[in-house]
Amino acid sequence: MRAAVFKEKGILKVEDVADPIVGPRDVLLKVTHCAICGSDLHRYSHGMLRPGAILGHEYSGIVAEKGAEVDAFQIGERVVRSGGKINPWHDVPPYPPRFSAKERGFLATTRPGAYAEYFVTDADLLMRIPDSVTNLEAALVEPLCVSLHAMRLSRLRLGDQALIIGAGPIGLLAQQCAALSGASQVFVSEVNAARRAVALALGAKGVFDPTTSPLVEEILRRTGIGVDVAFECAGARSTFHEATQAVRGGGQVVVVSLSWEPVYCLPVDWVAREVEIKAVYGSRAGEWPMAMALLEHRKVQVQPMISKLVPLDDIQAAFQELLKPDTDWVQAVVAFE
Ligand SMILES: [Zn+2]
Repeated sequence: MRAAVFKEKGILKVEDVADPIVGPRDVLLKVTHCAICGSDLHRYSHGMLRPGAILGHEYSGIVAEKGAEVDAFQIGERVVRSGGKINPWHDVPPYPPRFSAKERGFLATTRPGAYAEYFVTDADLLMRIPDSVTNLEAALVEPLCVSLHAMRLSRLRLGDQALIIGAGPIGLLAQQCAALSGASQVFVSEVNAARRAVALALGAKGVFDPTTSPLVEEILRRTGIGVDVAFECAGARSTFHEATQAVRGGGQVVVVSLSWEPVYCLPVDWVAREVEIKAVYGSRAGEWPMAMALLEHRKVQVQPMISKLVPLDDIQAAFQELLKPDTDWVQAVVAFE
């Protein structure tokens, strides 16, 4: 089969690789869609991967083959990644005690990803796609889970004012989740014009370009004291600081982004306001069906974010395009049909 193989820092090559082997509890998917995630761009551009690795974790597809012990799915069914078995008593991610997201680049290479014609995974890590949701939409259930998780772990309450810093896919989904959670106003800060346009189209009330109007001044002009919760979804050098400055006394900064570089932070500017800093990462198993239900019941829109469907052969160019600060792409999805 054909797959996009990581060669070295900044290089993916589409080539023939061995077909995946289907174990007794596995399902083989014919991949229909695999969305390109910002975390893949980080690993690719920082070279945090073993050569030979195949990335791609935001996939949907059709069951092409299944192991002898798999009863939950039938050949031909449309399926998407899930968060695995839900344990309502202990629904926490299975990470080691000193886990760092940076090392996940290495861990992720233990099983090949879905930038490939076929992809094999444990049947427990899949869920069925409802009739009203397309495979393309379903491929975005993973980033939706990340934003949903951020919202559920935040202190955002009905009537609060929220700020989203960074309108990439995670920020645009967080914007919609904040509105759904009852935020009276959702402000969005984003340097890229195409992403600001999508934020506006998705209903943000105030969308700012922090390079032309200082974000904190804009927020204070509109709110007087600052927003209740700021979601830092950009991970740029200045954005953690901006988030701490844009929240009110006692407000909360939710750190969703994974910055791979040191960021600016001056505690004397925010400690006296007793700002709370809350980190969130990934999602819980139980949040996957919730995210799918939000798509099924049209509470969240993903179509306006999707700028480009990319054939597998063009994946290297797509990664390069998405790394350009002035790209007019928001979300790109590798499409096989
Ligand atoms: Zn992702």
